[in-house]
Amino acid sequence: EAGALAGTVRSTCPYCGVGCGVVAQADGQVVGDTDHPANRGRLCSKGSALAETLKDGERLTRPLIDGRAADWTQALDLVAQRFKATIAEHGPDSVAFYVSGQCLTEDYYVANKLMKGFIGSGNIDTNSRLCMASSVAGHNRAFGADVVPGTYEDLELADLVVLVGSNSAWCHPVLHQRLLAAKAKRPLRIVAIDPRRTATCEDADLHLAVRPGADVALFNGLLAHLADQDALDHTWMAAHAEGFEAALAAARQTASQTAALTGLDPADLARFYQWFASTPRVVTVYSQGVNQSSVGTDKVNAIINCHLATGRIGKPGCGPFSITGQPNAMGGREVGGLANQLAAHMRFDQPEAIDRVRRFWRAPNLATRPGLKAVEMFDAVLDGRIKALWIIATNPADSLPRADRVREALARCPFVVVSDCWPNDTTALADVVLPAAGWGERDGTVTNSERVISRQRPFRPAPGEARADWRVLAAVGQRMGWKDAFSWTSPAAVFREHAALSGFENAGSRPFDISGLAMLTDGQYDALAPVRWPVRWAGDEGGRLFGQGGFATPSGRGRLVPTPWRPPAGRIRDQWHTMTRTGRVPRLLAHTGEPRAALSPADAARLGVKDGDLVRIESVHASTVVRATIDAGQRVGELFLPMHWTDEFCSAGPAGRLVNAALDPVSGQPELKLTPVRAEAV
Ligand code: SF4
Repeated sequence: EAGALAGTVRSTCPYCGVGCGVVAQADGQVVGDTDHPANRGRLCSKGSALAETLKDGERLTRPLIDGRAADWTQALDLVAQRFKATIAEHGPDSVAFYVSGQCLTEDYYVANKLMKGFIGSGNIDTNSRLCMASSVAGHNRAFGADVVPGTYEDLELADLVVLVGSNSAWCHPVLHQRLLAAKAKRPLRIVAIDPRRTATCEDADLHLAVRPGADVALFNGLLAHLADQDALDHTWMAAHAEGFEAALAAARQTASQTAALTGLDPADLARFYQWFASTPRVVTVYSQGVNQSSVGTDKVNAIINCHLATGRIGKPGCGPFSITGQPNAMGGREVGGLANQLAAHMRFDQPEAIDRVRRFWRAPNLATRPGLKAVEMFDAVLDGRIKALWIIATNPADSLPRADRVREALARCPFVVVSDCWPNDTTALADVVLPAAGWGERDGTVTNSERVISRQRPFRPAPGEARADWRVLAAVGQRMGWKDAFSWTSPAAVFREHAALSGFENAGSRPFDISGLAMLTDGQYDALAPVRWPVRWAGDEGGRLFGQGGFATPSGRGRLVPTPWRPPAGRIRDQWHTMTRTGRVPRLLAHTGEPRAALSPADAARLGVKDGDLVRIESVHASTVVRATIDAGQRVGELFLPMHWTDEFCSAGPAGRLVNAALDPVSGQPELKLTPVRAEAV
C-alpha cells in the first residue's frame, strides 16, 4: 500500500504531454496546481485518480538475476561486466538501450551520455519514436531545430483551431478543456480531422473524416487553395521563409483530386479551406494520428507549409502545434534520447556539433553516426547484431509493432536488462530485472508540449530497494570504467550539466538553450518553478518563437518542404485500419473491460456480426479474437482496435502483434495507425 505522504509537495502529472502541475497533499489527495501554467488547477480524470494509483501492490522491490532475488552490487556488477565483455568482443554497436518517454530528463541524460559518449554507439532509442519522431523530423526540416513554436495559450487566442489526428478530448483532456472554455467565451471554430468520429469531433464545428493516411493530400490541397485565393503572406515569406515555389509545385492538385484522395465531401473541404484562408489566427494541432505513419514526416511538413506560407507562426493565436503523448517525450528529445540525435538538440549531421559534445563530455568514444531506431533495433536483436540490451521504463513486448517478433528477439538475445516498476511481459524475458522508483518517488524534471520544464518531486519512499534510473545508469557507467564522468550525487547535478551543455559554445544559434539554469543551487533546483525554454540567462523565460524569423536553418529562414502525395504503406482494401491510442490506467477503462473492435453498421451487417459478438481479426503478422462494438462513427471498410490491452489483461493479447512495421523513411516512426486486416465472424 502507499507509503505516507511527506507533506504538501508540488509535482507534475506523469500521464500525458500536457504536463499538468499537481499538488500531493498531506491528506493523501492529489489535486491540480493552480500555479502551474499548463492547467491552472485543472485535472482530467486520469490526473484526478493519481492518488489511487499510489499502491505498491506487485511492485518490483529487489533486483532479480535469472528470476532470483539478488542484491544491487551483484546486479550492477553483472550488468557492467556483460556490457563491457560484449563491447570488447563485438564492438560498441553490439549493445543498445531502449528507453521511454516516461523517463525523467535526468535519467535520459545519463543514459544518452553513457551510450553515445562513452560506449560510443548511437544505439539508444526511445518509445517516443512511436509517438512523435515524425514531428521531430518535420520540425528539423522546416525550422532547422526540433521546436514547438507556440504555447497552449495560443489555442485560447486562436479564432480557428484545427485538430489533426488528435483525439484531444481523451488524450490531452486538460488542453481540450481549455480550448472549450475559450470557445464558450467567444467565437472560436474547431475543425477536427480524424477518420473516426471521436469524442473530440463532437465538440467540433466541422468534422472531416479523412481517409486514413490522406492528410498530406488534404494540406497540399489547402496550400494550393491559399495560393489560388491569394491568401498567402508574401511579405512575411520574403523576409523569413524559403522553398515556397517548390512546395507549391509539389502540392498542386485540383479540388476534385483532393476530394478523391481524401474521401471528403467537396463542400466540407471548401468550407475548411475558406475558414483557414479567411481567419488570421489559426492553430493547427497534431499528434499521433499524424505522426504514427509511414508518411508522418511529410504530413507534419504539409501542415507547417501552410503556416509558413501565411506567416501564421510564432504570433498570438497562430502556429503549427505538435502535442506529445507521453509526459517527457520533449525532455527526451532535448537530451538526445532518439538514436538520430546527439545531445541538447545537436545533430549527427553537424561535424562541429559532434566535436563540441565530445569536448564538453571529454568523451573518449563519442558516437559519430546515428544508431538504430526502435523497430530496426529490435530487428537487430532478432538477427543477432545486438547482443546486450537494456530496456528502461517501457514494455516493447506488447507495445512495438509485430510484438511476437519482439518477444522472439528478447528470448534469443544473450543478455537483456529491464528496469521497471512493475513486472510485465518484457521483464518476464529479462536476464536481469532492476526495480525502479516510480512517480511520487522520483526526483527530476520533465518538459511538456509547450516547452515548459517542470519538476517531478518525491513525496513518498520508493518500495523496497527500488532506485532512480539515473543512479543505476551512473553506477553502471562507473563500473565500466568512467568514474569521473558518472560521479553525480544528485539529480540537480545531472540537470546542471545538461543545462550547461545546451549553452556550450552557443551564441544564440540553437533554440534549445537552458544555460540560464546551469548555475542553480541544489535548493534552487528543488524549488524550480515551471519555466519555458529557451532560458539563456538566469531569469530569462522563452515565449513564442519564429514570429520574426530567427529559424535555426543555415539561412535563418523557415523552410517549406515539398510533400508530394504518396499513399501510406499497406494497400487499402476491404477491411483494414487499426488506430491505437487509449489511456494507460486499466481502472479508468473498467467500463470497457476488454479490447473491442469498432465496426461500422454496414460492415457489421455484411459480416453478420451483432454488438458484442466475437470477430477474428487477422493481419499478415498475427490474428486475434475480440468482441465487436457497432459504431456509427466508424468509416465503412475500416475497423478500430485500441492498443491498451496486454496478455496480462486479456487473452486477445496486444494489438501490437497485428500491426504494420512499415517505417517513415525520414523519422523511422512505424505505421501504427494503419494495418491491412481481414475481419470475420467467429
Ligand atoms: Fe495528467 Fe494529461 Fe490529464 Fe493533465 S491532461 S491531468 S497531464 S493526464
